[in-house]
Parts: sequence; C-alpha cells; structure tokens
Amino acid sequence: MNLIDPITQFHSELQQIRRDIHAHPELCFEEQRTADVIAQKLSAWGIPVIRGMGVTGVVGIIKNGSSERAIGLRADMDALPVQELNTFAHTSKHVGKMHACGHDGHVAMLLGAAYYLSQHRNFDGTVYLIFQPAEEGGGGAKRMMDDGLFTTCPMEAVFGMHNWPGVAVGTFGVTAGPMMASSNEFEVVVKGKGAHAAQPHKGIDPIMVAIQIAQSWQTIITRNKSPIDTAALSITQIHAGSATNVIPDDATLIGTVRTFTTEVLDLIEQRMQAIARHTAQAFGAEVDFRFKRNYPPLVNHAQETAFAIEVLQSIVGVDNVDARIEPTMGAEDFAFMLQEKPGCYVFIGNGEGDHRISGHGLGPCNLHNPSYDFNDQLLPIGATYWVRLAESHLRKA
Ligand SMILES: [Zn+2]
Ligand SMILES: [Zn+2]
Repeated sequence: MNLIDPITQFHSELQQIRRDIHAHPELCFEEQRTADVIAQKLSAWGIPVIRGMGVTGVVGIIKNGSSERAIGLRADMDALPVQELNTFAHTSKHVGKMHACGHDGHVAMLLGAAYYLSQHRNFDGTVYLIFQPAEEGGGGAKRMMDDGLFTTCPMEAVFGMHNWPGVAVGTFGVTAGPMMASSNEFEVVVKGKGAHAAQPHKGIDPIMVAIQIAQSWQTIITRNKSPIDTAALSITQIHAGSATNVIPDDATLIGTVRTFTTEVLDLIEQRMQAIARHTAQAFGAEVDFRFKRNYPPLVNHAQETAFAIEVLQSIVGVDNVDARIEPTMGAEDFAFMLQEKPGCYVFIGNGEGDHRISGHGLGPCNLHNPSYDFNDQLLPIGATYWVRLAESHLRKA
C-alpha cells in the first residue's frame, strides 16, 4: 500500500482521537463535545474553523497558493441510540449511546488528512474539511447546506467516505451512478366504522380494507415500475383493534419505500396513494395518506467517480478497488450534497471484525450492531485517500 509516511507515523495519535470520540458518543445535533475536540485539533494545527453550521457542524479551511479552485471532504460525526456491548477500554461512557456506525473513525481519518495538509501544503487552492452532524436520520448534511455551506465555502466538488464491514482492509468499493437508495416512510390510516364482531354488516371493517391495500401495493413493484428499475416497498407495522369481538374504527399501515431514482419514487408514491384511496372508496372507507421523503438516492457523478477511482488505485492498487460495487438499499444524507455538487462517495473496507481486541461483545461487527467497532487500521488508509484526493484535484500548475 502506498501510504503517506507522516500520516503512518501519526497513527497512534489518530487512534487516540478515534477512541476518545468512541468513548464519548453524541446523538444527532448534540455533537458539542465532538465538535469541540475537532475544532481544538484544527486550531492547534493552525487551520481556521467555522463552527455552528447546521447546529453543531464544523468546517476547517486550508488555503494555499492563489488558485480559486476548491474541494470539499466530508465526514459525519454523530452516534446512535444503541447500548454498546463491548467492554474494552474505549467503550462508550454514555448509557444508551454508541458509535456503532464508525463515524468516530470518519472524524479521525479526516483529522489525519487535516494534520498532514496543514503542514505539507502541496496543493494550489482551498480544501474545506466538512464535519457534519446528524447523519443518522437527522439530515445534518441538508442542515449545513441550509446554513450556507456551499455559499460560504464555494467548492467545485465534494467527496464522502464510509467504512464497510465485511470488505477487506486495504480495499475500496465504489460505483458511478446510484450507489445508495432513497429512504422514505409512510403511515396510512384506513378509517372504517366500528361494529360488534357478530354484526359485521353494521360496520365498515378497516382491517379487510387494509389487507386489500397491502396486497395491492405489491403489484406496484411487479406491475407498475419497469422490471429493470429497483425498488423495495416494505410494510413493517400493521396496527388495528384491541378485542376479539370488536371490529375497530381504523387500521394503520406503516413502512418504508426505497428506490434508486426520484422518478421511480414519484411513481410508487402516486400509485400507493391511488390504490389506497380507491380501495378504501370501494369499501365505503376513507384513508389518511401520509408519505414522507427522508433522504434522496445517493448518485455518484461519473467524472468525479472516475477521478476517485484513479486516486484509490494509486494508493491500494488496481486490484483492490472494486469500481462497480453492488449498490445498497441503505441510505445516506451525503446524497443531498451530491444533488448540489458533483462528487463521489466511496466505501472503505472495515474487515471481517477480527480487529476487535478482547472485550468486544459476541455479535457480528456489522454497522449499527452493539458489538461493532471501527477498525483503527483504516485510519492512515482513509487519511491518505483524503490527502491524495485533495492534492490531485488541486494540483499545482
Ligand atoms: Zn449508520
Ligand atoms: Zn454511518
């Protein structure tokens, strides 16, 4: 592997930073201490800092030379409401909160790049180091953009990275085009008319209507969207009734829809609504239809993806970059940034979990699992990627 020496030599400091953040996890928009740690490190290395963008977001700014060109490198910094099962020294000190998605490592990798870039200014232009809050459902990326991220910090392109368990350390995965899905949720209430269960003809049974709707919705996936397009429509909760001899007034269907394009999402939402309304109408019931779009699909831009692949190959070799990784139905709010700016998001292999020292829980080392731990071996690899990306993008004339 073609790692940057001074970063490799800085590994134990980066590990310390990562484990300190791991021990002090903070949830969506509460990342005060984490932001303090980041701002203190950046300031200590002579990097100007903007704070409070998107509530707790931090941006470090490293300028060099005279070029107007600029690039953004983004890390997320929030934790999850998960009770950690690990018992090693850096386990979470906060009950019910845990860095189970490795954002502690994402912060440390970007700090590693900041440390090196501030000392070796081998580029012409500006590097914006974006530390965003609330990736886990809070849409922190969008909040930073609403607070003027791209106007205060004008940049040509923006890049993101996430650790990926089950993929070998020293390898990367990426693909041009859609790489992660849009995430959306629905709650549909069927309003019927309650009755005695022995006299169903005197009511309008919302449970029968809800069942019809639930069945018919699956035909959207198989009969309405093109078979070439990918989508998932999952009903994850059905609530109705509380007695064996009472037909309830209403029934509720709750679930999620995932798609890789907004066009398919538009189609699914519109068809779900039509089926729900018309089915209810056919039975004399009504529906209250609520559909909420959370994160859009994450779509990598072709040119920036080709560029990222080239940089990755120069670090880990051609064979260790999967340039056509299978997209995942998971979601990521970096998608908002890629709607505004060209850029690319990559997966960095986190290994199988055998990096965990004694004291880890018994479960697998998957993201969002209570026995997960970020693999510290990745720190110099990820930091080297960030540095090479910035130096190559802002190459000196
Ligand atoms: Zn996560
Ligand atoms: Zn994550």
